[in-house]
Amino acid sequence: MEINKNFQGLELKAKSNKLKDGTFIIEGTLQGSVEVECIKCLKTFKKEVNENVKFKVVKPPYKGFDEEYDIIEMEKFDPVELLKSEVELIKNDYNVCDECKQKEFNKEF
Ligand SMILES: [Zn+2]
Repeated sequence: MEINKNFQGLELKAKSNKLKDGTFIIEGTLQGSVEVECIKCLKTFKKEVNENVKFKVVKPPYKGFDEEYDIIEMEKFDPVELLKSEVELIKNDYNVCDECKQKEFNKEF
């Protein structure tokens, strides 16, 4: 199945494969820009996202471990929910705006 979903400026383009046990294998790209808050000055800015993703969507509870795939526990696979949680992850990331990065840089040298 082809996935082509957009949520808050972030686009997931991927292929999904359903395995016999109900697990979904998702491989593709996350692209776009997400509005995030700088942890230093609290200004919002757009963060560019461009990454390859590999997810394994499993039914909870999941006790395994996977080196190749990011495990997503989901009762029922929903690409939009997956995308939403990725947007949340990016927003909760250690985000520093360019201005603050520049300040840090100047402090160090
Ligand atoms: Zn800042």
